[in-house]
Amino acid sequence: MYTNLQVFLQKELQDIKDAGLYKNERVIVSPQTAEIHLNTGAEVLNFCANNYLGLSNNPKLIEAAREALTTHGYGMSSVRFICGTTDLHKKLEAKVAEFFGTEDTILYAACFDANGGVFEPLFGEDDAIISDSLNHASIIDGVRLCKAARYRYNNADMADLEAQLQIAQKHRHRIIVTDGVFSMDGNVAPMDKIHELATKYDAIVMIDECHSAGVVGDTGRGVTEKFNVRGKIEIITGTLGKAFGGAIGGFTTGKKEIIEMLRQRSRPYLFSNSIPPSVVAAGIKMFEMMSETTELQDKLHSNTDYFMTRMQEAGFDLKPTKSAIIAVMLYDAKLSQDFAAALLKEGIYVIGFYYPVVAKGQARIRVQVSAAHEVEHLDKCIAAFTKVGKELGVLK
Ligand SMILES: *Cc1c(COP(=O)(O)O)cnc(C)c1O
Repeated sequence: MYTNLQVFLQKELQDIKDAGLYKNERVIVSPQTAEIHLNTGAEVLNFCANNYLGLSNNPKLIEAAREALTTHGYGMSSVRFICGTTDLHKKLEAKVAEFFGTEDTILYAACFDANGGVFEPLFGEDDAIISDSLNHASIIDGVRLCKAARYRYNNADMADLEAQLQIAQKHRHRIIVTDGVFSMDGNVAPMDKIHELATKYDAIVMIDECHSAGVVGDTGRGVTEKFNVRGKIEIITGTLGKAFGGAIGGFTTGKKEIIEMLRQRSRPYLFSNSIPPSVVAAGIKMFEMMSETTELQDKLHSNTDYFMTRMQEAGFDLKPTKSAIIAVMLYDAKLSQDFAAALLKEGIYVIGFYYPVVAKGQARIRVQVSAAHEVEHLDKCIAAFTKVGKELGVLK
């Protein structure tokens, strides 16, 4: 009998709508790139994709995927350890390790799974996990699946991290866990200091590089490159679903014994399907392109600098980003929604975020810059922001 649950769900859904928190999906009918077409007929510039390097519709990746469909077929119909491993999977794992300067890699269907399956096989009730307060939902869920003691430190606050490490000295093993780039402010975790504290207090470190890989560091190797700790971090997780082509797939890369143990015990790896060869082949191609040239990373960095500088000159209040995420601060929830709606009418697709996604009174529009953007796109976006900013009284 569905009746009771149905009535309950209908009321809950109405409550979500009444609170203005209901998420609607906009429907795109073109490939993911700078200029996209919506099912409403609108053509808009996309400033809210994680397509940082503009690879989501890259012809070379599409070709690599197409070729693998011919050579290796469509699906694997198996988890990795039964009959879901091809030469392509092994090759991509080696490429990921080469890119991050690590010892070995294990692939997952998504980084959500990588984070969900990393803690439970490695840590038990005698151990401690010390986690940044703004870590991604998948890290929080992964920690919940494991019996280790939990400690939380304020976002990127090294004094608080040190205090938590001191309390956690009583445990057998300790791990500090942090996002590389935090997705709402675009700030980075101070990896040099985190590594120092980890050494001082005998802890290992895990970084989630989902928003930083391909983006942060001169050659896009992530926060370990930016802070000169390449090869010194025990565990890195990441996604193929953002800068790295944007399709699907996640990974954990790091010390070889850790990866070996995950292959034996990590539940999303053991009990979930292997990623399809076409996606794996495109991933290999992507890492080959990344090692030949830094053209896309360079373009992303210059686009981000250009956008930041011009928006500041226009008078907007921006968070001091260290990534390709730029938070345009508006502080008021309704204003953030009105602003984003007005921008869409101007042909700019961005999203306004407000409580509970960000703290109360910290409403903003999040802009994500891409190497797919040309200067004309950036100029059009800045002009639209300026026009709407004046109309809504944000700019004088
Ligand atoms: C996007 C994201 C994930 C999830 O990655 P998927 O591969 O899409 O599952 C995990 N962690 C962080 C920090 C992310 O930004």
